[in-house]
Amino acid sequence: MDISEILIPGDTPGVEWRLPVFRFTGSDAAAPKVYIQAALHASELPGTALLHFLLQRLEQAERDGAVAGDIVVVPHANPIGAAQWQYGDLEGRFDFASRTNFNRDFPLISARDRETLLDDIDSYRATDRLKRHLLHMALGADLVLDLHCDDESLQYAYIDEAFWPEAEDLAAALEMEAVLLSDGESSAFEEAVGFAWKYAVPGEKKTPLPGKLAVTVELRGTRDVYPEMARKDAEGLWHFLAVRGVVSDSSVKLPAFSGPATPLDNIEIVRTPAAGTILFHRNIGEVVNKGDLLATIISKPGSADGATDVFAPQLGLILTRFSGRFARARGDLMKIVCDSPSAAVRKPGTLED
Ligand SMILES: [Zn+2]
Repeated sequence: MDISEILIPGDTPGVEWRLPVFRFTGSDAAAPKVYIQAALHASELPGTALLHFLLQRLEQAERDGAVAGDIVVVPHANPIGAAQWQYGDLEGRFDFASRTNFNRDFPLISARDRETLLDDIDSYRATDRLKRHLLHMALGADLVLDLHCDDESLQYAYIDEAFWPEAEDLAAALEMEAVLLSDGESSAFEEAVGFAWKYAVPGEKKTPLPGKLAVTVELRGTRDVYPEMARKDAEGLWHFLAVRGVVSDSSVKLPAFSGPATPLDNIEIVRTPAAGTILFHRNIGEVVNKGDLLATIISKPGSADGATDVFAPQLGLILTRFSGRFARARGDLMKIVCDSPSAAVRKPGTLED
């Protein structure tokens, strides 16, 4: 295992960020190359915990001569965001300086222009330098996993239709309870990787992309950071690497993925009609019918007309739930995975800002 650091000068004097990168050199040049990062949203730590255990497993595999493909691991991809605390809370998702989501505004380039990402790198501010380094590393791989988590959530992933159903093995390995099939129309990290491959010849869109994968994995919720979960997820990712021939482990047999694979248009984002205290009646993992009571919002405590009920728009599986208990009007309460398209109009791209 080779450990190095990418140095990123801060935008103010006296500041420099250090990004540790772990590399394993595979024995088989024909095996898939892998890039895995976690905590690009700096407060989403289930993936960092997973990679802590996976790196130990990979070190053992290296000693055993069982690493076939090159593997690059960045266990905490965002040291800039990890330092951005305000009044005791880690923001992690949006950069204080630019107000930009750390997982948006990745450069949309062709894979053949990969090396240009680092051209004139000193001319970019720290967050853009970070994004360019991350994308540069990812575009050296065939399989790219970006490990995130949701708020309160089941295990799921956003997977571009260009990689489906080939990526069912990842969904099975991590025991995902749903896969959300995305359209690849954003500047999120994973979609910038997919874009680069689709437009390997600029102007000529190529899809599907067999043998490739760029995915955003949502490893449950922000508080789901426990040793047994992280070890289990690391084991799952090891199984995925084994079935793809990145590591050698003939004992691995994956079951078929049995969960739903659902287009983003079929995700109901349930929003609160009013500001107030949230009383949830239903939890993640539950299947609800159209019209079921999901939550009550107490907007005028003590008043006879002070509470508003929120109902399920259609039959579906509650995938995620807001962890706060006070809502602003039009705040997101839940994502529900449904069989039919939502009546709400969705713009192409990501579900959330
Ligand atoms: Zn995230």
